[in-house]
Amino acid sequence: MKESSRKQGAPSPCAACKLLRRRCAEDCVFAPYFPADEPHKFASVHKVFGASNVNKMLQELPEHHRGDAVSSMVYEANARVRDPVYGCVGAISSLQQQIDMLQAQLALAQAEVVHLRMRQLSSTANYNTPENASPSSRGRQPHHAKSHFNMDMAMEEANVDDSFWP
Ligand SMILES: [Zn+2]
Repeated sequence: MKESSRKQGAPSPCAACKLLRRRCAEDCVFAPYFPADEPHKFASVHKVFGASNVNKMLQELPEHHRGDAVSSMVYEANARVRDPVYGCVGAISSLQQQIDMLQAQLALAQAEVVHLRMRQLSSTANYNTPENASPSSRGRQPHHAKSHFNMDMAMEEANVDDSFWP
């Protein structure tokens, strides 16, 4: 009996059990996620959440979700250690700012695309009147240029226009 119980305790304990100075049972809930060679993972999670809370959270989850939960807790704990006030909220809000900035840039780029398309369409529509101002001087305000377009020409080109403006 003594021999077998000694054998059970022989394998090196997981990082959690080592830190908590307890025997690492074969069905230890921490062992699969906190290997002995990564002691810092459990150290920060224990510091921020507490070992018994981590234990409780893992017990409540189906096994196939535990790995993700542990990565999430380790990430959150490390963020909280780095930034005790905001934790990972600091990272989230800085990413949110980046998203807002990029969305504004995207909106500007899309507006520019629409602007350039309008300009291209209006210079194609004016194809028959090269004596008008050059496309570069006129192109800045295609709507404006079109509204001041010679009315006779506009009437002549009415059916051509239809094909260009779906
Ligand atoms: Zn263990």
